Amino acid sequence: MDMYRKLPCSIEGCAETAFAGTPYCRNHHPAPLEATKSLVDAILADRNAINVDFADVSIVAADFSRIRFIGCRFKKATFSHVMFTGASFRLCFFDAASLDSCDFSGVDMDFCSFGDVDIFDCSFENSELIHVNFNGSRIKESTFSSSNLYDSRFILSELENSRFDDCDFKRAYYMPQKEKAVSTANSNIAEAVKDLEHLYL
Ligand SMILES: [Zn+2]
Repeated sequence: MDMYRKLPCSIEGCAETAFAGTPYCRNHHPAPLEATKSLVDAILADRNAINVDFADVSIVAADFSRIRFIGCRFKKATFSHVMFTGASFRLCFFDAASLDSCDFSGVDMDFCSFGDVDIFDCSFENSELIHVNFNGSRIKESTFSSSNLYDSRFILSELENSRFDDCDFKRAYYMPQKEKAVSTANSNIAEAVKDLEHLYL
């Protein structure tokens, strides 16, 4: 799927990145909603999303269950009621995205980033979250229960009304700047790195 390689907008003098596999950025695209829909349809047909640029895309209610995402960019994307159940992600970047009522349960995720992301009412249960960065993200009403958080990072995150029960915190960096009503029952939270002193060891 090299058709979605990151390219500049084709309007002369525009510095924005082309949007959803089209020649135009979101502002110059004559029909951004249709462009998003055809991007979703192409991914569902292919079952793979490789180097796809979802930056600034807004998607409500889509089912990406068991799709394979590699090297995708979701910067400032807005997803609501989107299912990623059992999907796999490698080198995917969700930075500054907004995720509302999305399902990432049973995912296999490696080297991904959710930096500065708003995560509300999402499930990351029963997942392999290896080397995943949640630094500076705002996580509310969400669950990570029964997941492997190996070498994942929650540095300066805000955690509220969320669950990390039965999680494996081995080598995880757990240093939220705000923590309210978070449960970690049956988790080896003692194995997590919890102070900045040990951050660069
Ligand atoms: Zn443009």
